[in-house]
Amino acid sequence: MKPSATVEASERIRQARAAGRRILGLSSGDPGLVTDPRIIAAAEAAMREGQTHYSSPAGEPGLRAAIARREAARSGARYDAADILVTPGGKFALVTALMGVVNPGDDVLVPEPGWVSYGAAVRLAGGTPVAVSMLDRLDVGALEAAITPRTAALILNSPVNPTGRILGESELAAAIALAERHQLWIVFDQVYGDLAYDVRMIYPQALPGGFARTLVVDSLSKSFGMTGWRLGYLALPPELAAGVVKFLQHTIYCVPPFIQKAGEAALALADELVPRYRAIFRGRLARAAAALDAVPGISCAMPDATFYLFPRVDADDLALAQRWLAEGDVAVMPGSAFGPSGRGHLRLSLACGDDELEEALRRIGRMGVA
Ligand code: PMP
Repeated sequence: MKPSATVEASERIRQARAAGRRILGLSSGDPGLVTDPRIIAAAEAAMREGQTHYSSPAGEPGLRAAIARREAARSGARYDAADILVTPGGKFALVTALMGVVNPGDDVLVPEPGWVSYGAAVRLAGGTPVAVSMLDRLDVGALEAAITPRTAALILNSPVNPTGRILGESELAAAIALAERHQLWIVFDQVYGDLAYDVRMIYPQALPGGFARTLVVDSLSKSFGMTGWRLGYLALPPELAAGVVKFLQHTIYCVPPFIQKAGEAALALADELVPRYRAIFRGRLARAAAALDAVPGISCAMPDATFYLFPRVDADDLALAQRWLAEGDVAVMPGSAFGPSGRGHLRLSLACGDDELEEALRRIGRMGVA
């Protein structure tokens, strides 16, 4: 298993900052939002009320019901609260889903460029990740060519980390048809689903044939500024939860009940908070995309969603990211950290403050690409 390139980059920045260096961090997946005080108050009240014990491994009934309602409102997919499992973050929801449907020796198709943890999570479940290139489209032919008799599942992510792309309805419909033909599960990571701008978010669980074979991975980290709370969930097709929950029973036991109370408070505030955060990221993305696109050797478009930019650069992405860090204290991720198809790109996370972003863009303009 390889170390997580993004987590290690964040660790290096943390250490450099502790040593007194002022790094402008455009590399982290943490949206950098301050958790709303009403969410914090809900956790505090729950702790004071005594919600400091073990609780149900599947999650608190109130939160599971709130998640089911939210899924219905967003995607239109109707989940029974019994098919929602609460997990410590989306990352553990992913591992839990894979533990549920992957047997040792199975293959799992994973998108690349893609989030750095997919391959490692498949390995944790005893499977073998098979990377399929999906830089600017979901190529069903390429997926089909990678399928073997051992293929058990297909991981899809939309909006995509790192490219910010939303998979279209025809792409997802084709993926569902493929999964039906080959009897595959779809593990669908929608953690950036709330941060969609002018392109409509499409959910495979709401498309024909999708509900019964899609395991939905989601999280409150990105939409509510709650990365450190570690709160995510799975929305599962009927009949799966009773088996999958055993993995939670034997690993985490449960997500702390007071964290779940905070989650309920967050979901109740979704209509207020999510549009506010979306507007912040949208403004930053538009400004930064234009500024980067004006730099010779960089071509950068506004993404469909997320808080990432994934510009093409006329340079070796790894060397360029290292040079910007060494010369300008600007930290970005090289695109090749997300897979070979990411080569020649950089991923810039706009999760920093506005002043920091302006300064980073000035320095990037000065340092250039060549
Ligand atoms: N999926 C993707 C695509 C991500 O980028 C992340 C966070 N970097 C996650 C899942 C998981 O986030 P968390 O564990 O904080 O919910």
